[in-house]
Amino acid sequence: MNISRKDGKFKKETQRRALSFFAPSSVTLRLCVKCLFLVLLISANTLGQTKSGSHTSHPRASMSPEAKKLLEDAIGVVCTQAKLDPKSSVPIDEMQARPSLPIQSPEARAGAARAQHLLPLTKSLVIASLQQLATEYGFEKSPKFRIRIKQAIARVNSVQRVKPDMDSRDNASVYLSRPHLITFGTIFLAGLRSDEGMISVLAHELMHIADGDNDSLRPLVSAVGDKASDLTGLDIHGQRSEEVTCDLIGAMAVRAYITSTPGYESIARRLARSIQHNCVELDEGDEDHLSPRGTIRALLALNPVLVRELINDREERKLP
Ligand SMILES: [Zn+2]
Repeated sequence: MNISRKDGKFKKETQRRALSFFAPSSVTLRLCVKCLFLVLLISANTLGQTKSGSHTSHPRASMSPEAKKLLEDAIGVVCTQAKLDPKSSVPIDEMQARPSLPIQSPEARAGAARAQHLLPLTKSLVIASLQQLATEYGFEKSPKFRIRIKQAIARVNSVQRVKPDMDSRDNASVYLSRPHLITFGTIFLAGLRSDEGMISVLAHELMHIADGDNDSLRPLVSAVGDKASDLTGLDIHGQRSEEVTCDLIGAMAVRAYITSTPGYESIARRLARSIQHNCVELDEGDEDHLSPRGTIRALLALNPVLVRELINDREERKLP
């Protein structure tokens, strides 16, 4: 059974893959590695720096019935565009079902060229989005956290290359032992058919790199996860909060990109590309990831500006 997920993948998967020489059960390993990772963190007493993290009391965020209705409408826009837009991203359950794609295939080569071309710009967008998110959550006031952001920015700036990989199929990964590289499955490269779709996944991976091998942005990541949990009622803690934060940075990066590159396509269509690979029929999550449709819900709940722009654009287009 393939429960491995889909979108921009992550360092924990990275570790799972790195260990896969030693055992055949990748599903089991994913869980074990995560536990091991946490145990090591605790034993090294490095949790002291994140004590104010995920489970301390915080003001509970909530959504009004009107906001919930708008969110449902916005999900409708995203997944309708997934069917109408010729450059929409392929849903990840469809990607998973596809046969492997050779690196030299025209679609994979085009995707790899697009990803490499967009990498420098995406690095800048991620850095700006990360700074914006830290400010929104009040972390810019902490001198200690400002240093961590500075170090995170340096890690993002050091990324140089996208490496196409046939075996990675519909995943992208960062190996923290090789932090200058984003490994990108060829099916994924071919399935992200727009700059917006590609930027969102590159940004997701860059955010993992920003967080680094010590989870240095954990207080921010936990705050985002807590808020997403409160707003949606979904369980978004631990690795799930990191994945959602990476996706949020991806959506923010795409929004900034769209603002800076106006064109003839509708804003809603372009915005939808940042999350529509999650418009799946088969909606399965796992320990580390929300389900794809749960991911859309969490991202839009965290990002009401995105909801408004998806809806407003649709409304404007209804006018004569
Ligand atoms: Zn990830």
